[in-house]
Amino acid sequence: MTAAQLGFYGCLICHYVTECAPGTTDMRCRRCGALLHRRKPNSIGRTWALLLTGYLLYIPANVLPVMHTGSLFSTQSDTIMSGIVYLWTSGSWYLAAVVFIASIFVPAAKLAVLTFLVISVQRRSTWGPLDRTKMYRVVEFIGRWSMLDIFVVTILVALVRLQSLATISVGLGAVAFGAVVVLTMVAAGQFDPRLIWDPQADAHSFRDNTHGHS
Ligand SMILES: [Zn+2]
Repeated sequence: MTAAQLGFYGCLICHYVTECAPGTTDMRCRRCGALLHRRKPNSIGRTWALLLTGYLLYIPANVLPVMHTGSLFSTQSDTIMSGIVYLWTSGSWYLAAVVFIASIFVPAAKLAVLTFLVISVQRRSTWGPLDRTKMYRVVEFIGRWSMLDIFVVTILVALVRLQSLATISVGLGAVAFGAVVVLTMVAAGQFDPRLIWDPQADAHSFRDNTHGHS
């Protein structure tokens, strides 16, 4: 039995739980007046739209240069990957590892986990609801630190190149990368983790109903 089935609706702003009579159309939080929804409206569609845009922008984020560095003698454009290779070959393998994890692995993992969650909810999967909720919690938690990703790339590469550095400018890849970070954060916000639990509750109430009738 879920709270929603009993007519209780949680406020997403102040987390107060309001009881709403069945059939009420305009449900508002009794404490802060925010509009209440049984589940976030259009959660799956919106999450999908944001995720697909995120996937599309993940390509230019990795293919286009994230920074241009110039000295008196040369100019150089770095993509995230060439920055990692540069750090690796210049002996800073630990920095290369940090940039790889923050800028390539984590954004890809966030997209993959959110995609998995949306598909599982769409297929009304009853597999490991607690595990999936924990996965969502991790993605949401990492989201708060997402802006570190972009700083890590630019600052670390700039630091290593500092000896011969005259100018730095941000490349288009960094813009695409920032957009991917924002899109995954918003996608995580649009996803409603309560949807993970709905198929279990429905399965239980169906079983109870059939018992009741027999
Ligand atoms: Zn409220």
